[in-house]
Amino acid sequence: MSEALKVSGVVLPDGRRRDVYVRDGAITYEPVDGARDLGEGWIVPGLVDAHCHIGIDARGGETDAASAEEHAIVNRDAGTLLVRDCGSVHDTHWIDDRADLPRVVRCGRHIARTRRYIRGFAHEIEPPELVTYVQQEARRGDGWVKLVGDWIDREIGDLAPAWPRVAIRDAIAAAHDLGARVTVHVFGEQALPDLLDARVDCIEHGAGLGQETIAQMVEQRTAYVPTALQLNNFPDFAAQAAAKFPAYAKHMRDLHARRKDTVLAAYEAGVPIYCGSDAGGVRPHGTGRDEIAELGAYGIPAFDALGAGSWRAREWLGFDGALTEGSAADFLVVPRDPLADLAALAEPSHIVLRGAVVSAR
Ligand SMILES: [Zn+2]
Repeated sequence: MSEALKVSGVVLPDGRRRDVYVRDGAITYEPVDGARDLGEGWIVPGLVDAHCHIGIDARGGETDAASAEEHAIVNRDAGTLLVRDCGSVHDTHWIDDRADLPRVVRCGRHIARTRRYIRGFAHEIEPPELVTYVQQEARRGDGWVKLVGDWIDREIGDLAPAWPRVAIRDAIAAAHDLGARVTVHVFGEQALPDLLDARVDCIEHGAGLGQETIAQMVEQRTAYVPTALQLNNFPDFAAQAAAKFPAYAKHMRDLHARRKDTVLAAYEAGVPIYCGSDAGGVRPHGTGRDEIAELGAYGIPAFDALGAGSWRAREWLGFDGALTEGSAADFLVVPRDPLADLAALAEPSHIVLRGAVVSAR
């Protein structure tokens, strides 16, 4: 049983100034005798990284449990208290037994078409096997399955859909039958219509979204995790491939050039947007809060950018969003108003997870 805590200040998202108490891992607004006083600040529900790869880093997927633990701690100490693991080679369910590590919602392992993803990360399979693999990962994950929906097709020399329409339809239906949601890596335009027609639940990256696909997402309440910081890397991906695949390189540069307009168009249309850093592989862990700031820099109002990486994302993933009476005590205390400057999220005085201070300065 952890010690009782008290913290005072403006509680987000509702913005009321209150004394907040923590007892037995939960929030209460009834004073608790003897609670340790953490002082004052802005009190923000735990940050969410909705696209993260625990156990994958710059070395690829060839890491061990110690690396996964390290990634979990780096993310936690940056204020990310809930992760949707968007595909990992490793089974990290052991993290669930560690009260000091972030909560993790898993997608299982990526499912990709043969030779159509970063080597070593995914189950690489062919369309007739897709339903079986989706069912397998739906059972191994925590209610999500991750597909790779497009990648460079070396014969075409450009991005192309990875799966035939019928395979996508059957795969998503199979996941839904098992109660799992499906999220899909999509960089370009072409793979989107089949996925949306099959009622995919979430689009990752989505740099090829346009008016029609955005309208369909709004209508179907399809979620969108732009991974804006990863979209910034598209010119690098283009440069690496330019000599052999000039059409692909041009396509990636075009997607990059309009990425801010694309994300803002989805936001303004009302697509539910959530923050994901895409940490693991190319991008470093512990950058969930940077993604929030990046969406803010795109022009998304600070309240909505922060909500996309905090209370709204928590609710979307099935956790308590706002810090209401009895909700899980997962929060950050920051010394100045994060809605005035999202960079304040990088200066937490205390990080509280499951009612215990896990990081302080
Ligand atoms: Zn990813």
